[in-house]
Amino acid sequence: MPTINPKTRCAFGCLIFVCSMIALLVSCLSTSNNAEAVYKYDNYLTNPPNIRVLLHDNIKKVEIEIDQPYSISDFNSNKILANRTNLTKSTMYLESGDFRTKILASDTPKFFVKANGNISIFTDNGFVKVNKTKYCGKLILVPKGNDRFSVLEEIGIEEYLPGVLEGEMPIMWNDEALQAQVIAVRTYAIYKKKINDNALYHINKLDLAYKGSYMIQTKATEIVDKSRGTVMVYDWKLFPGHFHSTCGGHTEDISLVFNLNSIPPLSGVECDYCNNSKYYRWKKKLGKIEIQNKLNAAKVDVKKIRNIKTEQIGPGGHCSTIKIDHAGGTKRVNANDFRLMIGPKNLRSTSFNIKNSGNSFVFQGRGWGHGVGLCQYGAQNMAKSGFRWFDILRHYYPEIDLVKIY
Ligand SMILES: [Zn+2]
Repeated sequence: MPTINPKTRCAFGCLIFVCSMIALLVSCLSTSNNAEAVYKYDNYLTNPPNIRVLLHDNIKKVEIEIDQPYSISDFNSNKILANRTNLTKSTMYLESGDFRTKILASDTPKFFVKANGNISIFTDNGFVKVNKTKYCGKLILVPKGNDRFSVLEEIGIEEYLPGVLEGEMPIMWNDEALQAQVIAVRTYAIYKKKINDNALYHINKLDLAYKGSYMIQTKATEIVDKSRGTVMVYDWKLFPGHFHSTCGGHTEDISLVFNLNSIPPLSGVECDYCNNSKYYRWKKKLGKIEIQNKLNAAKVDVKKIRNIKTEQIGPGGHCSTIKIDHAGGTKRVNANDFRLMIGPKNLRSTSFNIKNSGNSFVFQGRGWGHGVGLCQYGAQNMAKSGFRWFDILRHYYPEIDLVKIY
């Protein structure tokens, strides 16, 4: 993870560096009177970084279409393997070391390219459509064994962000909430790139909802452009800018949810703004047999469940462990794993009380999502009350600085 060189701070920052007492006073003034201040770090990154997003993992076939002339190259050497005019909507799959395509199920497969390592596909002006989504970044095909492969997109962070903004927040929401969301995502994505720099991909499509990079609404691009290069730092370091739908009244400490060290921007704050969310409070009744079947399907060996309890509850009310008493003894399961096994639409969060009610359990819950970082419904209601994007970020991520890193 990068540490930003203090030498590059502005004169204001140097003052802080010289005298800690003055720094305390000045930094208080800076947050109260100059909340919009975005420090600039010219030497931090020269250009917006490219990030690699995992779109489809370990699949046997994919639908693909390219509307313009395109090139195929070797991903590692960048050597061009072929230049082609376009690719009609086809099914692509891997067979005996070759990628092949066919337009209809009955057609004879056509050779596409030899799967000699990872293959890049790119087109300068058009899109590559994969299944139903259009991308303008470089597509990477990664062979995995005999007949399976993964599909990635490599794209500049600023071109990636509008598609995530559209995926993560209704684009008709308030501009200030959308801007807070963009900066949270930019911070999260660049942090992920730093920690996964040498990995095949930096972000899994499942981590952030992504609508692709080609069909982008003007509003999304405008919001992203306005804050180009701006990220949040704590102690002059990037951190994972987590966010979620609805906190239910208090956001959660990251150490409880993701098993990472707690830092002030991710340790949980009160939120009085999300109580109009449909999932501010929720209730779900589930049969004991149904829960047992779902746990068994996920290879958690329980039989005749007697009771379920939450353990290790954080400031936001989320628990980190579920204790299950059953005929075979006691079993403890990570709370988020438990939530996913039971179904994220059944249990909207891991913040709930459980009532043992005969043949079933009644879960009375708060919020939707993991509860860490920015609360989206809260951000929208703060914006509607007149708060600006930097107020929203400073509320949900206390003690941050906002910096422009390229
Ligand atoms: Zn909230």
